[in-house]
Amino acid sequence: MKELVGNCQVCGCEVFCTDGFFNGVVEPEGITCFSCRDRAVLNSLLNQLLEAEKAGVETLAFLLESAPDNTLFQHVKEDEAWSCRGLIESIRREKGQMSTNTGDFTDKVKALPTQKEQLQLLNKGQSWVVRKIDQALKLDMEPETKQFLFEMKQRHTQNIEECERLI
Ligand SMILES: [Zn+2]
Repeated sequence: MKELVGNCQVCGCEVFCTDGFFNGVVEPEGITCFSCRDRAVLNSLLNQLLEAEKAGVETLAFLLESAPDNTLFQHVKEDEAWSCRGLIESIRREKGQMSTNTGDFTDKVKALPTQKEQLQLLNKGQSWVVRKIDQALKLDMEPETKQFLFEMKQRHTQNIEECERLI
């Protein structure tokens, strides 16, 4: 049994109910097909990551103020900047709306009295990033976006381990 329920409010495609299974979600604005719903979720995750990585660049710049020769901090800062560029490209590629906000993570790090506590919070932030990437990787996306997110995850996982050694 296949029954037409309506049209997707985003792409206009026909959304069916097949054998009692509804191939979309009902939202306040109307019906959304699975593909448009996934796209909206993906773009929300990419923007959350972009806001966090912009805050990451700021946070590392702050940590470098008191340790300008720390090569690990320099390296992590470069990775955060690399992630920002990749996320901006990915949001463009996936045709999403770009957020211009920056997370408030740096203020939280600055509020902590010791570098040990600052690094512990930094690693919590980096672990949050890895979890968000894992959520995003479950969704449909362009192969280049997937490839980028895999590498971003690898770099963050490695940076977490290296920062852990300083704590
Ligand atoms: Zn749709």
